[in-house]
Amino acid sequence: MEQKPHIAILPCPGMGHLIPLVEFAKLLLLHHDFHITCIIPTIGSPSEAMKEVLQALPTSIDHVFLPPVSMEDLKGANPGLQIELTMTRSLPSLRDVLTSLVATTQLVALVIDPFGVDALDVAKELNVSPYIFYPTNAMVLSLVLNLPKLDETVSCEYRDLPEPVKLPGCIPIRSRDLIDPMQDRTSEWYKMWLLRAKQMRLAEGIFINTFMELDGNAITALEEETKNLSLYTIGPIIQNGSSNPVEGSDCLRWLNNQPSGSVLFVCFGSGATLSYDQMNELALGLELSKQKFLWVVRSPNNELANAAYLVDQTLDNNPLDFLPKGFIERTKEQGLVLPYWAPQVQVLSHGSTGGFLSHCGWNSTLESIMHGIPIIAWPLFAEQRMNAVLLTEGLKVALRPKANEKGLVDREEIAKVIKGLMIGEEGKKVHNRMKDLKIAADKAVSPNGSSTMALANIASHWINGPDFRT
Ligand code: UDP
Repeated sequence: MEQKPHIAILPCPGMGHLIPLVEFAKLLLLHHDFHITCIIPTIGSPSEAMKEVLQALPTSIDHVFLPPVSMEDLKGANPGLQIELTMTRSLPSLRDVLTSLVATTQLVALVIDPFGVDALDVAKELNVSPYIFYPTNAMVLSLVLNLPKLDETVSCEYRDLPEPVKLPGCIPIRSRDLIDPMQDRTSEWYKMWLLRAKQMRLAEGIFINTFMELDGNAITALEEETKNLSLYTIGPIIQNGSSNPVEGSDCLRWLNNQPSGSVLFVCFGSGATLSYDQMNELALGLELSKQKFLWVVRSPNNELANAAYLVDQTLDNNPLDFLPKGFIERTKEQGLVLPYWAPQVQVLSHGSTGGFLSHCGWNSTLESIMHGIPIIAWPLFAEQRMNAVLLTEGLKVALRPKANEKGLVDREEIAKVIKGLMIGEEGKKVHNRMKDLKIAADKAVSPNGSSTMALANIASHWINGPDFRT
């Protein structure tokens, strides 16, 4: 039997969840000589971006793909639901892999993505300590852990609540900004989340990818309320910017030729799409703003905002074909459009980048904070509207454009907000606050910072036994 302590991690399909968990695993190695196995459930074959991340892992981190599960019966269903059911349907093969790890290694813990909380039972059955890696902030975690209580006390649809939802230590959340599954209480998805919210409390601990200066009040309130559950604030954990250098070289070369802080980076995460009309307005709004931009363009989808999560986007039509006629030619001195994917962390760390129009996925948010780049908050789905509320109303490091009565953010509004961020007075204030937040983030992950200490504590707990709460 291998003598090194072994940790298994279980991400869900989707880069936004894989990247921080893998980075978390790498950080654990800085604290102890663990052996780590990353167990990855799959639907189809893994994407190139995913393979690239996994191939770059250090030798102490292995990865195993679980056999693809069938989603034939769920064709056309919301990708979020598909991802969650992939985790559930992968449980038998997960059990096999874990059983073999228990037999051959000193398996001390299983760290799971919250979409995979069903795996808590499997871990307990095999006497492995289960932990959850929560890839977003404490406000969202607080909402999820409070869901059973809200379910008991609220009798109507949450969307019909006259007042915002108030959670201890959190800024009030308007019903339209609540997470997607809460928008329809009769849905199977909501019922699934309710069950998962209860299951999550069975974990031995939850790692939150955040830090005290970001949502400290929510963390403190949560700690008060979850006495039997250890919470570890271990963020910001973001992807290492040295990956993807090749495919990004063109856009980085283009950035090299732009003035310092002049470029707005526009990217909606790893799988989000806009409707055709919205994409058109965004293009014309960028043009109208006369500000420099670097835009990662994806083919539009009129049905689902998260449509490109589970498909190989490069098999799509050419996304540039959907841009307004003559747009690329007219804006060739102003901006660059990039189909599908950009090396986001390298773009955000480039001196020419001065703003980020983002869907407020939590990784993108933390990456922007770590590079001190102020945000235009354009949330689309999942918990992104709550992240946008935290960024705009709580931390005040982002501006949020308003949609018109048809639900579209029109070109004039887009141009106004872009100019506001890039050259306006409000933008300067937002920028300064973001710089302060970056300093606090750097401190949290410095050698004696709060997040580093929290990781050191859990590493020592896994090696030696009980730790103290952080
Ligand atoms: N990403 C990237 N290039 C892209 C789009 C996304 O490198 O063109 C990375 C981004 O840096 C982040 C992740 O993919 O680490 C997206 O995660 P996030 O939580 O922001 O959004 P999600 O993809 O989960 O909606």
